[in-house]
Amino acid sequence: AETYHAVSGRIVRSCNLQQADSGRVTQHIEIALPEGTAYREGDHLGVLPVNPEPLVRRVLRRFQLDGSAHLILTADGKHSAHLKTGVPIRLDELLARSVELQEPATRAQIRELASYTVCPPHAKELEAMLEEGAFQTNIRVKRVTMLDLLEQYEACELPFARFLELLPALKPRYYSISSSPKVSLGTASITVGVVRGEAWSGKGEYRGIASNYLAEQDPGAEVLMFVRSPESGFVLPEDPATPMIMVGPGTGVAPFRGFIQARRALQTEGKVLGEAHLYFGCRHPEHDYLYREEFEQAEKDGVVTLHTAFSRVEGTDKCYVQHLMKQDGELLLKLLEAGAKLYICGDGSRMAPQVEETLMGSYRDKHGASPEEAAGWLAGLESAGNYVKDVWAG
Ligand code: FAD
Repeated sequence: AETYHAVSGRIVRSCNLQQADSGRVTQHIEIALPEGTAYREGDHLGVLPVNPEPLVRRVLRRFQLDGSAHLILTADGKHSAHLKTGVPIRLDELLARSVELQEPATRAQIRELASYTVCPPHAKELEAMLEEGAFQTNIRVKRVTMLDLLEQYEACELPFARFLELLPALKPRYYSISSSPKVSLGTASITVGVVRGEAWSGKGEYRGIASNYLAEQDPGAEVLMFVRSPESGFVLPEDPATPMIMVGPGTGVAPFRGFIQARRALQTEGKVLGEAHLYFGCRHPEHDYLYREEFEQAEKDGVVTLHTAFSRVEGTDKCYVQHLMKQDGELLLKLLEAGAKLYICGDGSRMAPQVEETLMGSYRDKHGASPEEAAGWLAGLESAGNYVKDVWAG
């Protein structure tokens, strides 16, 4: 917590934005910020999560330890800068707040497990996992953890202190703030897609640490957090008359809710607003259309123009944001050539590259340009600050 200058925020409201029959959870969470903590639209909230009790109990059971015991860590400082040394700390607290327990095992960890395994055939099995193909297929892709392996190989006598040292520090998770300080000065909201599903390891249900931790907190709960401004310049245009193109399917829409709130406030102040187009996508309008009423109201009030793509509506073809953007290619190019600001937020592994490809395709078609020229055009928009991305993987 000290590393990030984290402060305590209090949850004031929390609700699932998806309809009950969608089968998934996207949690809208409003957090009252402590005095002195400010934010801008487009900022991130860093959250320091807590490992869930069942996961902590698995570790305690494997090492036959009592979670209420206190221990004082001593360290040589080489491996474990994130572990607090020299002060008594409760064991279950330490496991809950300091280390990642669900990361896939690394080769170094497996090598160490093998070296502490007293049963030779089992040590051999662990060593065999180090082979490149086996490691990729059986460990990384399935995200098998060091704890999974320790449970599987009881003959591994890895000391608990070494287990702790081998684990990485528990990382903060970042969420785009989905509100505007112009509307809620002391409160920031985030829009959290809750990661849950059949574990790729084949062992039960996988639950993402931070998203589930956040979704499980009731109003009144305190969470350790901090505000961070992305370096990409993901902010509203200085001049409200600058046209905006916002692309944010799924939870990628989060920062744009903040932008739309700010635009409404600017409109009320009598400012002239440039056109703003929001490309949003989800599976089904009746299941996971986040903030639907708010956005539709904003459209009625002239704050934004909505373009919505649905990918799982019976009897219709899958439609993603890039399909709509392709249809609107001419309009988008006209806006961009007139100095509009383009924002893309959300999935950086598939959606963002496909949106970029679509825009470059429109540019090639309009100008008869080569792929290199189209790529140069997009790169030019980016370096001029007219195209900004806030994307993440997985
Ligand atoms: P973790 O415990 O970190 O687990 C996630 C990992 O588990 C991933 O590697 C994933 O591939 C893997 N995984 C997924 N399913 C399975 C499975 N079934 N079996 C095994 N492994 C699996 N998220 C939002 O929801 N809203 C936002 O506004 C938002 N903004 C972001 C902004 C930035 C700049 C960044 C970097 C990320 C943002 N994210 C956002 C993502 C967010 O930070 C977290 O990564 C996300 O919530 C998952 O964290 P977690 O702790 O719940 O999951």
